[in-house]
Amino acid sequence: MTEEKKETPQKKQQRRRRRPQPKRSQQQEGKSPVNQKSDTKRVAVSVVIPLFNEEGSLPVLADELKSVLGSMGMPYEIIYVDDGSTDDSFKILRDLHKKNKRIKVIRLRKNFGKSTALALGFQQATGDIVVTLDADLQDDPAEIPNLVKELKKGYDVVSGWKKRRRDPITKTIPSKLFNYTVRLITGIKIHDFNCGLKAYRQNVIKTIKIYGELHRFIPVLAHWQGFGIGELIVQHRKRKFGKTKFGITRFMKGFLDFITVIFTTRFAARPLHLFGTIGLVSFFTGFIIDAYLTIQWFLGNIALSNRPLLLAGFLLIIVGVQFFAIGLLGEMISRGQNRENEYSIRDILE
Ligand code: UDP
Ligand code: MG
Repeated sequence: MTEEKKETPQKKQQRRRRRPQPKRSQQQEGKSPVNQKSDTKRVAVSVVIPLFNEEGSLPVLADELKSVLGSMGMPYEIIYVDDGSTDDSFKILRDLHKKNKRIKVIRLRKNFGKSTALALGFQQATGDIVVTLDADLQDDPAEIPNLVKELKKGYDVVSGWKKRRRDPITKTIPSKLFNYTVRLITGIKIHDFNCGLKAYRQNVIKTIKIYGELHRFIPVLAHWQGFGIGELIVQHRKRKFGKTKFGITRFMKGFLDFITVIFTTRFAARPLHLFGTIGLVSFFTGFIIDAYLTIQWFLGNIALSNRPLLLAGFLLIIVGVQFFAIGLLGEMISRGQNRENEYSIRDILE
């Protein structure tokens, strides 16, 4: 590395001429050697499906996918990620895989959650376009060609919008509130952040990192990396088989995760910007209050012991200093972190 830096421009050019250059697209999209397939084996569309105990839906889903993907006339692959199912889901998937080599199955040892399952599917996907959908038949595979068409209009991500949502009211109302809050705070103009149906260009899924329960915020993570997000209204169906895997706790967790997303993506590299701002505002408010009381005492001889506001002022000063110190500590910790890959490059012209 250091030698390369010391090279003169002329030498660098000579060396470049000698060395065969990798194709630009491969370089930028960060494909691993495993993913560099020959053109004949190129996959145009990868469909990634996370699932947990969906034995009832899988056979129907497989039929629907076959007819939709077959009619698209593009080389495809389907990646099922079995997130530790305890029913017969894996058996069904094994049979599907035996009959069709375009079907890949990854089975997790236990239930790790939808985000992990998706992340794993993304890691394995080789298609130029990657589409995700839920396995419970609530997402209609017939929407896949529509999403791909929309993506080709020039977006990096197209997110489905379950405009007519076929779920109980206990889910739809909190979900509206959730989407409204996320839209308001992030400024991303889409209506349904957590729709299972989404289409991505490959470089998006290789860039964003999802873990925990961050799958709810994929459009946010992608937007903050500078990717263009589109939205398309999709059909939503009632759950016929099995039951939902996310209980009422989902909304509480969703809001907590939102705070995590904001912290980790916006302020992780600059903690002082957040804590320092709060600290300074608190400190100066307290300082002004106490200064005012002191001046009054000085001029009017009003005893400070009669002014409860004095304590509030002190409190604000102390809290302010503490926030500031937390921010500085955060900066020190942040310095030691590996901040690689926190940006994504669109093009390089050399
Ligand atoms: N899922 C998963 N792991 C989990 C929970 C869910 O892979 O721990 C899958 C599930 O099988 C389904 C999708 O994620 O394919 C969406 O889950 P669900 O239908 O329960 O969510 P809802 O539609 O109620 O939001
Ligand atoms: Mg569902």
